[in-house]
Amino acid sequence: MKKHNYSAGPCILPQEVFEEASQAILNFNNSGLSILEISHRSKDFVEVMEEARNLSLELLGLEGKGYKALFLQGGANMQFLMVAYNLLGKKAAYLNTSTWSSKAIKEAKLFGEVNVVASSEDKNFSYIPKGFKIPDDVDYFHCTSNNTIFGTQIKKFPSTKVPVVCDMSSDIFSRQLDFSKFDLIYAGAQKNMGPAGTTLVVVKEDILGEVERKIPSMLDYKVHISKDSMYNTPAVYAVYVSLLTMRWLKANGGIAAIEEQNEKKAALLYSEIDINPLFKGFTATEDRSIMNATFNLSKDSLKDKFDRMWKDAGINGLNGHRSVGGYRASMYNALPLESVQVLVDVMSDLERGA
Ligand SMILES: *Cc1c(COP(=O)(O)O)cnc(C)c1O
Repeated sequence: MKKHNYSAGPCILPQEVFEEASQAILNFNNSGLSILEISHRSKDFVEVMEEARNLSLELLGLEGKGYKALFLQGGANMQFLMVAYNLLGKKAAYLNTSTWSSKAIKEAKLFGEVNVVASSEDKNFSYIPKGFKIPDDVDYFHCTSNNTIFGTQIKKFPSTKVPVVCDMSSDIFSRQLDFSKFDLIYAGAQKNMGPAGTTLVVVKEDILGEVERKIPSMLDYKVHISKDSMYNTPAVYAVYVSLLTMRWLKANGGIAAIEEQNEKKAALLYSEIDINPLFKGFTATEDRSIMNATFNLSKDSLKDKFDRMWKDAGINGLNGHRSVGGYRASMYNALPLESVQVLVDVMSDLERGA
């Protein structure tokens, strides 16, 4: 039986996508060939790449606004350094909201001065800093929209004159934002867009070409743009499955419709966390992520019982990240509301039996 999959990433994708993706391994587009054995320069795959690039811009409402979409390799971790390589001339501003932003900061420091404008490290990254100033003399401002590990999410992005770069790995395509306020968005596919192996980069072309340093071809956004994201052999299968997931999203009403679903799922779980005395949420209420909900048991002695109960209910992947402990329910786009109901029922059964 299919599990209720709360895995933080790689994670659940729509069941239809798994089915269609598995068909393509056996016989892609009725070609008599597997998608795994055709040239990435073949017409069939070039069309996949083109549709994937166009559809990502369409879903984000960025068509015809000077943006290019790329499907690169090396994960979001590669973007930590690629962003700085391409954009950091002298100085950049970073917001530190946890592990992932800290890693981005570490890489950026190899290329120039990094001004950490605010950090939530003082309270173990359980909130989103607010009211900080972004200097006008920096090359860009970098933030992480959703803190996958600790479960916080930026609800209101700071306004600034400088280009805004955002790591949206764990909430891409999950909620409506004015994406044209961002100059570069990147997202490792394996949280909300597809399988591991490719990273979506959406970049406003006019912010490129400002730094003086020489950039190796594989790390140069302009090179990848000039080759339509096919400078080297792309991660063909990861791009294809990402395309299927984006098609699924579009067919189901796009980001507006999925956001409504995501809000419902999050509201259902957080209300149980709040009314059930056996649980407490980890993060500041106003900064709660609708993607990754983190919580703890109020009594450690209930751990074995609770763990047995949710596993018996067919739930997978509820353990918190090793750096936080407790529990983390990742409710990405493809997780159905029914799966959240199953978890909430287990939580209230625990209260009734305790
Ligand atoms: C998972 C994650 C990453 C790391 O992604 P990789 O593809 O493994 O490099 C970076 N940022 C955020 C916000 C993430 O959730």
